[in-house]
This record gives sequence, structure tokens and C-alpha cells, in this order.
Amino acid sequence: MEMLIAGKWIDKEEKIEVRNPYDNSFIDTVPSGNAEDVAAAVKAAAEGCAVNRDLPVHRRMSILRKAADIVEENAEDFARTISTEGSKTIRESRKEVARAVQTMLISAEEARRIVGETIPFDSMPGSENRVGYYFRFPIGIIAAITPFNDPLNLVAHKVGPAIAGGNTVVLKPATVTPLSAIKLGKALMDAGLPDGVLNIVTGYGAKIGDALVSNKRIRMISFTGGVEAGEKIVKRAGLKKIGMELGSNTPVIVCDDCDLDKAVELSVSGAFWAVGQNCIGVQRIYIEKEIYKRFETLFVARTRQMKIGPQLEEDTDIGPMITEGEAKRIERWVNDATKKGAKILTGGKRRGSIYEPTVLADVPSGCKLDKEEVFAPTVNLYPVKDLDEAIKRANDVDYGLHAGIFTSDIGKAFKAIREIEVGGIIINDSSDYRIDMMPFGGVKNSGLGREGIKFALQEMTEPRVVCFNL
Ligand code: NAP
Repeated sequence: MEMLIAGKWIDKEEKIEVRNPYDNSFIDTVPSGNAEDVAAAVKAAAEGCAVNRDLPVHRRMSILRKAADIVEENAEDFARTISTEGSKTIRESRKEVARAVQTMLISAEEARRIVGETIPFDSMPGSENRVGYYFRFPIGIIAAITPFNDPLNLVAHKVGPAIAGGNTVVLKPATVTPLSAIKLGKALMDAGLPDGVLNIVTGYGAKIGDALVSNKRIRMISFTGGVEAGEKIVKRAGLKKIGMELGSNTPVIVCDDCDLDKAVELSVSGAFWAVGQNCIGVQRIYIEKEIYKRFETLFVARTRQMKIGPQLEEDTDIGPMITEGEAKRIERWVNDATKKGAKILTGGKRRGSIYEPTVLADVPSGCKLDKEEVFAPTVNLYPVKDLDEAIKRANDVDYGLHAGIFTSDIGKAFKAIREIEVGGIIINDSSDYRIDMMPFGGVKNSGLGREGIKFALQEMTEPRVVCFNL
């Protein structure tokens, strides 16, 4: 496939191969972009700024709605693309496509709600003869940098509101999963998006990242990815607005008064969705000690039922990790934890890029599985004395994106809501529950700012004051 600059689909001699992480089979190539391609894309985006700014809101809305229709009409093709270039099973990918359609439709709806207010200038003595208001205007060029794990919907979460708000975009998708993003770009162009409003540069972040994020014409960086890349980008960005959707090592608390079967079922799903490569996937489960053994037995039994296989087979529950290197990394982390005393209750073996769904107990505090983001199909079970201990340990990390709690006690739920340091808390469901219109983002190392269309639109537009001296 090709990259998109100034409305033209461009190929290059130097290419990057896109391969299926299950069996390394070849899928397609994309151009290997360089700093000149970034500069050309920024130039095109600069020329597109006035075009999208001046596009009536109803036109932006109809383009976004039409693109959503195109994605929906080709849903199975999009799902198969996600499942061949990435890790997700076909059932998971179908859900991602359905959500991406929603993300585009919500972007269209929110475009009509970008509103301002009148300002009571006469509240200040001496300003009695003044009237005015503020409205929100587009911020300009947005650099959108996206990760591999939701290669379609997380792109829609940046491109949808950016277009709705009248901005232009230079998109750099993850190098291992660029095809879903390019297909979304094609849907938008087929829907009538003017040239230059969306530009897509494919290429390695390590090679073109600096040229993109340090470009002075770019007014905002909207980044989703890991903390390491996020910190590098912040250091290079200079004076521009920054949105950071980063990682986490999400806690879930299971209280002794909860519906245990439901807690087990939903936590297993939350731990192993997308092979655990999910920023709000369940990583640390704190279980009140009265029910710990029962929970552990049921959780391990349910995990053992998960079927590993190729992503496109309908009954596969767990596909490959995104690369063999990532599977080797988690193998090292698990070996390190077991050397320090952790016990593997099930799983723990690697075959190429496949890592078995793995449940651990006695994970010592301070090792990587306990403190860092695993982004892999492993989950730690911890018995705790009571809710106070669970909350204290849930908070004792550098991340804070989502948390979950299972309880039938409303008092316990409200205590957790008040005291857990996160951007979202889910009661009686796994931490990985999300819909696309809610504010989404984290505290601590989990990020800066919020996505969720209405909230992204606040970040992607700015208020301009208008004052008449009568
Ligand atoms: P990543 O390695 O940080 O890469 C994310 C994107 O940044 C990719 O497009 C990457 O390009 C690019 N990049 C890397 N270094 C860069 C640099 N120096 N300058 C500019 N761009 C650079 O993350 P990932 O492995 O794809 O995704 C997993 C991470 O994303 C996890 O930590 C996960 O928690 C996080 N995530 C967060 C959310 C959220 O909403 N909070 C959602 C999903 C995922 P290349 O692909 O070319 O390296």
C-alpha cells in the first residue's frame, strides 16, 4: 500500500514489509518514509489548514458519516486486515471495526457541538459598552502517532475529532500495523475529504519521529503509545500542545461480597483480550483473602480453556504476540519473577511469537511483572487482608489509567472511586470496559489530557475571544 501526501498516494523504492505475526507470512509493503516525506506532508497539511477551517460543519459531518459507512460496508475486510497485520483474533477485530465506525459517527455528531459562549463584558466597571463572545477555532496541524494494538480505532480516535474540529493531520501509524490506518485514510478520501487535510507518512518512529514532532508548524502532537517513546517525544516537541495516551499495569480488586463467577469470567477476558496487549488490560488482581483460593481455582480453570491459534480461525481466543521479540521479552520477565519466588499457576511457555495465557501467584513486589506494564498475556493474583490494603497496593505504581472493582457493597465501591488514582474506574466489570464517547486517559505515567471525541475536541480546538467596543 502507499502513503498519502497532499491527496496523492505515493510509493517509494525503499519499502517496509508487513508480515503476519502468527507465521511471519508476507502481507504487503508500505513505503519507508524519511524526513523529506515528513516535510512534504507537513507542507500539504499547512496548505490544507484553510481548506478544512473553511469547510462548513455540515460538510465535515457528511464526510465523516460517509467514511463511517464505507468502513461499515467493508467491515469484514477491515477486520481481516487488523487480524492479519496484528495480534487480534477475528472476533476481537470485528468488535474493533464496529467501534471505529462509532468513533467516526460520534466525531460527525460532535462537530455540530463545538460551541462558545457570550461573555458578560459589562461585569467589569468601564466595560459597559462592550459585547462579545468566544468561539472555538481549529488548532492547526496535528501530528497523530498511533500504536499497533488497536490499529484502526485508535487512529479513528485522532483523525475523527481532528477533522471534525477543522484541523489537518499528519498521521504516522505503527510500523508493524500500518495497513488498517491506510485503509481508513482511503475511506476518508473516498468520502470526499479535501486533499491535504489528512496526510499519512509510513516509516520507523526512530527514523522519522524527530522530524515530525520537532516541526514548528505542527501545533499539537496527539500520541498513543508507550512511556519510553512518549517521554522522548515530549523532550523533542518544543512549544506545542501535547496529548499523551500511555500505558498502565491495571489493577482489579475482587471483594469477598462480589458475584464470584462474574468476577472470574470478566477478569479472564480483561486479562487476555488482544493477547494482553491492551492499555487497560487486567494485570494485577487483588482478592480478599476469604475468597482467594476459590477465585484462584476458578480463574486458572477458565484460563486453561482459552484456545491458542491463528487469528483468523473463528474459535481462536488467543493469537500471537505482535512480534517474537515481544514474546521473548515477556518470557524473560516471567523467568525473572519466578527466580525471585513467583509461582506459575498455568501457562508460562513460549513458542515463537505465541506466549501462553499465564497466571502467576506470589509475584514479589518490585519485580517487573509487579511494577511495569507487561503488555502481554500474563496476570498476577494477590491475596489481600481487606479493601484498604487492596487500594494501597493498587495505587503503589507509577501508572493510573483504569481500575476495576467487583463488589456488591455500594460503600466499598464509593471508597474505591474516591481513593484509587486513575482516569476511570469500572464497578463490577473488568478494567478494560470502554465506550468511545467517554473521556479516556490517565494520571501519573499513564498520560496527559483526554481522548473520547468530545474531550479530544476540547484539546484540538482553542477559544478565540471576540469583543465589540460599541
Ligand atoms: P510505542 O513503541 O511507544 O509506539 C507507538 C508509536 O510511536 C508508533 O507509531 C511508533 O513508531 C512511534 N514512535 C516510537 N518512537 C518514536 C519517536 N521517538 N518519535 C515519534 N514516534 C515514535 O508503542 P506500541 O508498542 O506501538 O504500543 C504499545 C503501547 O501503547 C503500550 O504502552 C500501551 O499501553 C500504549 N497504549 C496506550 C493507549 C491509551 O489510550 N492510553 C492505548 C493503546 C496503547 P514505530 O512503530 O515505527 O516504532
